[in-house]
Formats: sequence, C-alpha cells, structure tokens
Amino acid sequence: MKAAEYKKPFDIEIVERDDPPRGKAAVVRVIATGICGGDLHFYDGTFSYASYPRIGGHEIVGEVEYAPDNKSGISRGDIVVVDPMEHCGKCVPCRHGKTNCCTSIHVLGVQVDGGFCERIAVPPERLYKTGSEMSVERAVLCEPYTIAYHATERAGIEKDDEVLVAGAGTIGLAVADLATASGAKVTIVDRFSQKLNVAKQLGVFETVDTSTVGLSDFVRERTGGEGFYKVFEATGNPNVIASCIDSVCPGGTITVIGLLAGSVTINGLDLTRKEMTILGSRNSISAFSPVIGLFKGRSLHPELLLTHRYPFVDIKKAFEYTFKNPKDVIKAAVFFQ
Ligand SMILES: [Zn+2]
Ligand SMILES: [Zn+2]
Repeated sequence: MKAAEYKKPFDIEIVERDDPPRGKAAVVRVIATGICGGDLHFYDGTFSYASYPRIGGHEIVGEVEYAPDNKSGISRGDIVVVDPMEHCGKCVPCRHGKTNCCTSIHVLGVQVDGGFCERIAVPPERLYKTGSEMSVERAVLCEPYTIAYHATERAGIEKDDEVLVAGAGTIGLAVADLATASGAKVTIVDRFSQKLNVAKQLGVFETVDTSTVGLSDFVRERTGGEGFYKVFEATGNPNVIASCIDSVCPGGTITVIGLLAGSVTINGLDLTRKEMTILGSRNSISAFSPVIGLFKGRSLHPELLLTHRYPFVDIKKAFEYTFKNPKDVIKAAVFFQ
C-alpha cells in the first residue's frame, strides 16, 4: 500500500509499505485523513514527541475492510471514524478515568504510525460508526470536535453563558460551534478575518478582529469592565494567557486548549481576587459517540471548517500550502478517492 512518511523535518514522501495483517485488529481502508496542527509540528520539526520516520495522521475516516470477532458491533463495510488514542489502563490517571492523560499514551500518527496511508489496523473498540448518511467532509472533523467537546465539558458550558474564545483555528471554531449550539453567547477573536468569516457562518454572537484592537481593551469596553464567564484559550500563544486572565470575570473559568510553548506569567493576586478557575484540556474521554450523535443533527456546521481538500498523491503540496498559509487554511484533509 501507499503511505506518506515524514522522513525528516520538511520532508514528507509517499513510500510503499506492507498492508496491515488481518489479526485481532480491524483493518480500515482510509477514505480521508485531516491534517492537524500536531501534524504540522511534526512536519516542521517542532513537535516534542516527534521521532522520524513516522506515518502521521490521526483524524481518520474509513471503511472497515476486515473485522475480527468483536463486541463493538463493527463489521466489514461500516464507515467509521477512528479514536486515535490508546491508553494503558494501569497508570494513576487511567485508574481515575482520566485516560486522556495516560502516562504511556500512544496516539496514532504520533508515537505509532497513523492514517496518512491506504490501510490501517485499529482495534474494533476504537472504531465509531458514522452511519451511511454522514458526508466524509463532516466525518473527517469528528476527531477535532472530540477535542473541542472535551474542552466544553471541562468548562461546563451552559445556556446563556457569556463565552469568549481566543483563536479561530479548527479547535477554537469547533468550541464556538458547540457552545453556540448549547445556547451560549459566543464572542470569538482572531487576527485573521478569513477565519472570523467562517465563525460568522457558524452563527456565533460576535466576532472580533484582534489585528486592529487589543483583546483586553476590547473586553473592557464591550463588557463594561465585567469580563466573560467562560474563556477558552485556543491560540497556543503564551502571551494571550494574560489577556484571558484580564478578560475573565470574577468567579469565571479559563480553559486552556492551545499548546502554550513556553512559560506564562500571571498576576498571582488575580487568582484569588477573581477566584478564577484555570483548567487544562487535553485529548478527550468518551467523546466520539456524543460528537457523532451531534453530527447527525443539524445544529453543528463542521464541514464549514474544511477549507482545503487534496488528493492523497498531493500530500506534499497539502503540507507545504497549509504550513505557508495559516491565514486561509482552517482544516485541510487528504482524500484517497
Ligand atoms: Zn488533531
Ligand atoms: Zn495509563
């Protein structure tokens, strides 16, 4: 089969690999795989878990080509999305149900080979049927939406919450989409107007272009100094944390999803003065079934996030373009047919 391998930073090549064996795991013929921020960090050599060579890709939609005997109801011909995470079940976080924080977690496309290939072996219990009605364009956004779903669960989003999302990349937009669908009043900010245009199509309450106005200033003016009840950091920029702390109201919650490379400085007094809650959010727990359930309805708009599609043979082009054009690519994906 054909597979795309990161050879070294800035070098991804299509190579020939053996098909996965038909054993205890199911074999999925890949239909489409999304390119995530993590994949781009593998590509540019800035990902701390990276080792080369590696087949990347963890946002996978496919058709089950072979299914072993299983209790998950998976059979040949099913269209599925893949839960890319394998946890040990034994470490302290796993024993407390925090399998998303497993200390020896294996993620497809990161610690083990992933879905930028024609076929992949996955245990049946990590496959989720989308049903035949769901478009591939929608299904390929399932995995990123599980990350956003976990973050909104962490934050405990409720109807009428005043929500601020910093960053209109895939995850920020997915958070905005989920929170809006829950009846929250969502303001989303970004430096790139193209991304805010997608947020408008999602039906968020308000979009703010922070290339022209500072976040803290905007929030002070817009809320009369009160701030937002639930704030999400989805930029990955350590400098934005200070603005998030400025922007949260007393008693409010900040949920950090972006990978903040570097130290962050906060005013210690704000912690008690505002009695704020700062939460990290990583991966997801049992989020695939609820996200697929939501995707079957009409309240979410995941396909609007898929801005670029490429045939698998053009994966090199897909990475080059996505890497160089963060302004206009929200989600790019490669398709195998
Ligand atoms: Zn991802
Ligand atoms: Zn574990």
